[in-house]
Amino acid sequence: MKIDRIETFQVEWPHEGVPYPRSAFVRVWTDDGLHGIGEASPMRGGLASLGMIVHDIAAEAIGCDPLDHAVLHDRLLHKFVKLGPDGALTGALAAIDIALWDIKGKMFGQPIYKLLGGAWKTALPFYASIGGNGIERSLDDVLRIVERRLEDKPAAIKIRFDNGRVKLDDDIPDHLAKARAVRKLVGDDFPLAFDANNGYSTGGALRVGRALEDLGYWWFEEPVQHYHVKAMGEVAQKLSITVSAGEQTYTTAGLVELIEAGVRMIQPDIVKMGGITGLLRCAALAQAHGVELVSHQTQPTIGHMANMHVAAAQMHATKPIEWNDPTDRTHGIFDRVPFPADGKFHLSDRPGLGMDFDEAAMSECRIEVAG
Ligand code: CA
Repeated sequence: MKIDRIETFQVEWPHEGVPYPRSAFVRVWTDDGLHGIGEASPMRGGLASLGMIVHDIAAEAIGCDPLDHAVLHDRLLHKFVKLGPDGALTGALAAIDIALWDIKGKMFGQPIYKLLGGAWKTALPFYASIGGNGIERSLDDVLRIVERRLEDKPAAIKIRFDNGRVKLDDDIPDHLAKARAVRKLVGDDFPLAFDANNGYSTGGALRVGRALEDLGYWWFEEPVQHYHVKAMGEVAQKLSITVSAGEQTYTTAGLVELIEAGVRMIQPDIVKMGGITGLLRCAALAQAHGVELVSHQTQPTIGHMANMHVAAAQMHATKPIEWNDPTDRTHGIFDRVPFPADGKFHLSDRPGLGMDFDEAAMSECRIEVAG
């Protein structure tokens, strides 16, 4: 069996006046008619990754055996490394890898988690990841949104303070007031996490982190700029709350730097680095270092499903999986999408990823990326 062709396209989601980013998808076909689906990180619609697939990767991949996906991944990463190992290239390789695992599952008639050696559990608790809680949102609105997300029965809630990353330590009193109010709303025992999205200096992060410790928060995510690896480690080592980072790290070597600096919870993202093959390597790395791996995942369809297969196969799954703010992107163009029931996501025993495009619905919002 050989890879025969690769479709690259964006999907523009239906929305009500809100400019959702486009998603970046691939569909890989084999010469005997099987296909697999994959997703790249959708930064700016994923155009950079899809362009690399069209211009550079497709010619190398076509004709290869889809079961050689790890060899293909490493060969292409090294061949095109000067396009940038961080970001666009690793997102492109992630999309191809996920699609090839989907094909492999269909070839063997098994769900991907079986091909990974089996699932520790197929019912996965999740945490509700709630973005946009900065100064632009009132404290009351933050509480109303948290209340609404609690209806889905998450195992934990993470409040994110998304920001432009060009100012540090802005609005710390506002952030702390919201962290306190959310704690009061959910009670002392409900697990909470706080995502700074790189918004603080080292001193600011220590101040916020100590307040979060007093409030009993579970983890403190990306307190300082992601590229200040030593500072991230310093904050992690000086606080007792778990400090996490790694959603903007694209290589296993980069994750090692974070771990060596002192970070004890890493958050690589399956659509940003290496796909299923890449995330498995991250899991081995975390396991070997005694570090928690709690993968970042904010894409609601293919990325989420691929991430769940790896999470299900992970022994030390110390924290629930991420479920981002619900959007229209969970509807419409797939035959089934991951959606929780009674507080958990349930993996099926369908082959491969266990989901596929609804061809008619997808074609209406599909935008070709042909180079
Ligand atoms: Ca984050």
